[in-house]
Amino acid sequence: MTHTTYVWPDAKRCAVAFSIDFDGETPYLWRSRHTKPNTLGELEQRAFGPRQGIYRILKLLNHLDIRASFFIPGVIAEKYPTAVEAIDKAGHEIGLHGYLHERVDELDWGQVEESIIRGKQALEKVIGPRTMGFRSPSWEMTPQTFELLQRHGIPYDSSMMGYDHPYWIEGLPEVPVQWLLDDAIFYRYTGGGAGNPPLNPNTVMDTWQQEFEGLKRYGGLFLMTVHCWISGRGSRIIALERLLSKLKKDPEVWWATCGEIAGHHTKQHAGQFHESLGGRTP
Ligand SMILES: [Zn+2]
Repeated sequence: MTHTTYVWPDAKRCAVAFSIDFDGETPYLWRSRHTKPNTLGELEQRAFGPRQGIYRILKLLNHLDIRASFFIPGVIAEKYPTAVEAIDKAGHEIGLHGYLHERVDELDWGQVEESIIRGKQALEKVIGPRTMGFRSPSWEMTPQTFELLQRHGIPYDSSMMGYDHPYWIEGLPEVPVQWLLDDAIFYRYTGGGAGNPPLNPNTVMDTWQQEFEGLKRYGGLFLMTVHCWISGRGSRIIALERLLSKLKKDPEVWWATCGEIAGHHTKQHAGQFHESLGGRTP
């Protein structure tokens, strides 16, 4: 497995997926849950995502005929049901992203379970019952969380980086992310003079294009992750449109949602699961 090329549907050379961690204000609310600061700066900056950014991204995806995967904390579904409905009506995949964007490594077993249950209930109140994949807030996981996901019928995870193609981990198919393809590391800036200023969108898209070429050479998964409050800004949407249009035209690419990729892995690569029992390799 380690030295062989991953097999994609229709003999495609690689896979491309576009994912959105639609978390708005929730990471900030989680971080400040004990202090409750009386400030609006970062909250308003983040609320730009569910207020405006989301609709620009939906329009872009519709224009390019791309079905994407949105991972949404329960609190966002409660606060912005119209936006979540719009995502669902447009035919995109919707998955779990905690309830209040809880970091699972900061919770005990019962609290993780509660965040899964509450997160799913809040989303289902808006879009109805369905099977949903999981993306861990802040991309941290624990073996116990994998066990809980299985207990609650969650069919896959998309938070880890152990391979650049799908693999098995702790009994579930993993649809791997990677920091290099996350918009936050290039653009995230919340003021106060801390951190680096945001990069030019052209630089970011050049970096992503180069990573795409690398993944295509090795037959991997090019899974982008953006946030509406970050990538919903005008110049970044324009840059994204340029890159995505190009990738859409590539005949060697299998475009899919994270759920479809997990489904493919479960069906075609089930044998590797048995090899993985007792270990954490695929
Ligand atoms: Zn998040």
